[in-house]
Amino acid sequence: MQKPRHRIRDQRRPIALASATALVIAAMATASSTLPIGSRASAGPVATGRAAGIAPCRIPATMGVQMSEGVPTPAGYARSTGRIRALNLMIDFPDAPGVGSAMSRYAEFFPQTTAWFRTGSYGRLTYVPDAPLKSWLRMPLPFAKYGIQRGSPYEPGYHHLVDDIIAAADPKVDFAKYDLINILVTPNAGPSALDTVLSVTFSGNDDAPRADGVPLSNTSFIYSHQDDGSGSFKKTGYRVLPHENGHVFGLPDLYTMEGGGSVGHWDIMSEDWGANNDLLGWHKWKLGWLDNKQISCAARSGTSDHVLGPLATRGGTKLAFIPLSSDSGYAVEVRTRAGNDQAVCRPGVLIYKVSSDVDTGQGPVSVADSTKGSAGCTRLPNVHTELSDATFQPGQTFTDRTNKIQISVVDKDDKGNYRVRITRP
Ligand SMILES: [Zn+2]
Repeated sequence: MQKPRHRIRDQRRPIALASATALVIAAMATASSTLPIGSRASAGPVATGRAAGIAPCRIPATMGVQMSEGVPTPAGYARSTGRIRALNLMIDFPDAPGVGSAMSRYAEFFPQTTAWFRTGSYGRLTYVPDAPLKSWLRMPLPFAKYGIQRGSPYEPGYHHLVDDIIAAADPKVDFAKYDLINILVTPNAGPSALDTVLSVTFSGNDDAPRADGVPLSNTSFIYSHQDDGSGSFKKTGYRVLPHENGHVFGLPDLYTMEGGGSVGHWDIMSEDWGANNDLLGWHKWKLGWLDNKQISCAARSGTSDHVLGPLATRGGTKLAFIPLSSDSGYAVEVRTRAGNDQAVCRPGVLIYKVSSDVDTGQGPVSVADSTKGSAGCTRLPNVHTELSDATFQPGQTFTDRTNKIQISVVDKDDKGNYRVRITRP
């Protein structure tokens, strides 16, 4: 059997201690030199007219990268704008009979997940969850027989499980009606999420088994409870689902083997435990939640000024981007405590490097820390402390000496817009 194209394993765990690793972005070694240099997966439509100015900032996806930060996202993933229909199936096993009712498991995630996508997308993604079967769908084999472990590949365990789910649900469910599937597993199957996060997504997987004529190619599996014991579970435990669905829409993992030290709490693809957080502006552009006209592309040499409004509010210019090469660049945006961003303790200008040739989980995004070694401005559980105060304030400048880039925060007006001055060769 052919291996599925996209297998996303989740190895994230709650943070025990803040990482002491200080990120030195200018000296950062990316994984690009170790990856095969591929041809472009897709350069997207040819830019014309007004959109032509944005073309250098649209760093494309790279072949040989499982999940890339490139824009546009390659075909095969679920649509990320408009009305998205999500099928939810609650499953249990003979050795792990469902805890509580199946609909109480469903209620851990909805309506919060729908609201999270509505807020983050400025109303562009209407997430419509459906649970056509109101009781637990019993699998024929004990949980252990499927061989599901952290990082399990699609073959053979998940393929077998999906076959059994289709056999049990197909008589009553029209799989062709949905854009994505969530398998909400009874929380007593498998280990506690405190020990091992099993939750996983197989996305863009055309080799998935078919039902009602469609492959189950974008499917998230949610296990256990992401409950750190801090008392916030009822408010924040659903956040594993928007993270997993982020993969269904083509977003890579931003945490690495070292945890959240690359991006901290600035994106749900980096940290999905603890207080609510949003997505990076780059991800919002990639998902179609920001228009091209909301991106200020700093591709020309010299100095240019860019006025950016808070990312959490609707409309206006949100993201400045400085392309460095055909597969990397710096993104600049304004983050405040608003919308989905509830842990921001130092509002200001966030600067990060995006590399479309660095794979999921390898650090495709790295946030520049304006206050290295500060130990951060929050002690909220599961919020990466060191990067919590990474933002740049008026009067501060980020410098990349290697690439001769300077990004200065000039001032902030009374509406909360920041003026950023970019100098590049
Ligand atoms: Zn993930």
